[in-house]
Amino acid sequence: AAMREARVKKTKTVCTYCGVGCSFDVWTKGRKILKVEPQAEAPANGISTCIKGKFGWDFVNSEERLTKPLIREGESFREAEWEEALSLIQRKFSDAKNIYGPDSLAFISSSKCTNEESYLMQKLARAVIGTNNIDNCSRYCQTPATMGLFRTVGYGGDSGSIKDIEKAGLVLIVGSNTAESHPVLAARVKRSHKLKGQKLIVSDLRKHEMAERADLFIEPQAGTDLVWISAVAKYMVDQGWVDKEFVNKRVNGFDEYVKSLTAYTLEYAERVTGVPKEQMTVIAEAIHQASSTCILWAMGVTQHLGGSDTSTAISNLLLITGNYGKPGAGSYPLRGHNNVQGASDFGSMPERFPGYEKVEDETVRAKYEQGWGAGLSAKPGLNNHQMVERIHSGDLKVMYIKGEEMAMVDSNLNYVHEAFEKLDFFVVQDVFFSKTAQFADVVLPAAPSFEKEGTFTNTERRIQRLYQIFEPLGESKPDWQIIMEIANRLGAGWAYRHPSEIMAEAADLMPLYAGVTYERLEGYHTLQWPVAPDGTDSPLLFEDGFPFPDGKAKLFPVQWTEPIQYEEEYDIQVNNGRLLEHFHEGNLTYQSKGISEKTPTVFLEVSPELAAERGLEDGTVVRLTSPYGNVKVSCLVTDRVKGKEVYLPMNDSGKGTINYLTSSRADKNTDTPAYKEVKAKMEILQHT
Ligand code: SF4
Repeated sequence: AAMREARVKKTKTVCTYCGVGCSFDVWTKGRKILKVEPQAEAPANGISTCIKGKFGWDFVNSEERLTKPLIREGESFREAEWEEALSLIQRKFSDAKNIYGPDSLAFISSSKCTNEESYLMQKLARAVIGTNNIDNCSRYCQTPATMGLFRTVGYGGDSGSIKDIEKAGLVLIVGSNTAESHPVLAARVKRSHKLKGQKLIVSDLRKHEMAERADLFIEPQAGTDLVWISAVAKYMVDQGWVDKEFVNKRVNGFDEYVKSLTAYTLEYAERVTGVPKEQMTVIAEAIHQASSTCILWAMGVTQHLGGSDTSTAISNLLLITGNYGKPGAGSYPLRGHNNVQGASDFGSMPERFPGYEKVEDETVRAKYEQGWGAGLSAKPGLNNHQMVERIHSGDLKVMYIKGEEMAMVDSNLNYVHEAFEKLDFFVVQDVFFSKTAQFADVVLPAAPSFEKEGTFTNTERRIQRLYQIFEPLGESKPDWQIIMEIANRLGAGWAYRHPSEIMAEAADLMPLYAGVTYERLEGYHTLQWPVAPDGTDSPLLFEDGFPFPDGKAKLFPVQWTEPIQYEEEYDIQVNNGRLLEHFHEGNLTYQSKGISEKTPTVFLEVSPELAAERGLEDGTVVRLTSPYGNVKVSCLVTDRVKGKEVYLPMNDSGKGTINYLTSSRADKNTDTPAYKEVKAKMEILQHT
């Protein structure tokens, strides 16, 4: 009867895949999803979406969804009532806190969850348990970019709106497979390049679609971007192509910065990177001549031992050329997940409260102690890389992970899995019985974005509301409700009736979101942070100065860190990244029939040269072995890669995942794994 009565309903939501933040109406009847209809007023995407936003929703009604809590019994799990699962959690959390202290527990928030949920997760860690051991998956991707921007310009976010990129005279893309990873944003670049005479320069290992479209495509050796970027900067300084007026008025540290560039001559850079000198001078000239320059970058920059320094070098180059504070200029670190920006904004970071205020700052801490009515720890917590280490060393006993497939996406997986097995107590909260859930003691069924209200913040710092389309399936619940129930069982006394009340509390405490209210975010209305108390937002940053005491940006000198060196037998460079059709490990997109029929599995891209040398053909099954593990995968011969470089998409729910090969080595400033510095040897298992 319910189905007969169901009417067609249209509900606005925000895509839960990449950081572009497309919003659209979803047409439904009962629990049936009829179609996704983008609206012209959608600020990030207008009437466009990519294949994931359009078709990637079958997972919401999947029979594989978790609908009841699960409790481990020996090697298997049994279904349990919420009451039993929550009281077990209450007991284990309190025991660990009382016996080993608050820092024996750790929490991982999710960039798939809403801002309000990230806020509550860190509040649970800090105010209820008393630890700063809270992190999120930006540690795996964008923390180095955030650090590079904090060091130089003071805000860890895109300088302007996605739309502004169209106004740039030059777009420089470094280490980003934009057309596949951020498709709707890439469409804008493609359009302005084709129709408006915008220049496009791409630096990558792999000749992806944007590289093919570029006016200039350079192919530096893996892990050497800082060298060519610094050489371009030095060349521009030597030519007198610095924006002197901008630097004099708005930037500190010029002389020291110039000194730090001394070693980066074109000759040296050519030797290290393999990029011909002439190509570097072409880039310098292009920046010099362009009306404005935007630099877009992603994991090809950040996932290296020197990822934060390379991000810093990019920002330095933009500063000396006056490319901040005007439309069509600035930094665009492209955020991977829909809410990776928001998860960090709302304090799921071990050393920062919501709004990036430091836990060590006494005044800030006093504000939060008062706001939350709890004593807070001044000691920065563990990031997720350190958490794994501390489980191995026996200091970390209990973990609570929400919506994060850490058992697939962390690096050096064999080591991570061993750690999970050592935990005294492990809670995993997810929509599906994920790989990570297999290691848990208690698995809690969460509701995905279609089944709750809240806000996401996209790559351009845009805060957007999502509205509830369906009731949570079975006994699953929105993450914010689950976290609140756990907190209350531990004595918190929270009484949020709706996510808007969580946002109101957060906005009161964090200046970055001061003027954010649900009323100001009705429908397709959005705000870009920082938002002043009166609701004035900031589509373009740095117009009137940088958020430092004297209003000036800082040039931050950095030096190149050599990538990980491998024994000679590991002769294959294994690059890795996304595919258009799937998202990350594929837990959600493989559930979509339309998508998985089109791209049912991943393959290893090998170059024609390597294929000829080793006798590989399309479909040849090979094993790649690094010092840390191995994967089995079939080959696809393509000229997108060259020589001994291969490309393994990370989107595979099976054994093919890249992270059996990656090491525990990480960016020296942020502990972001050096995912892109992988070498392996290859053996043929089966010819086609
Ligand atoms: Fe837009 Fe990204 Fe979603 Fe595609 S995956 S619809 S580009 S937000």
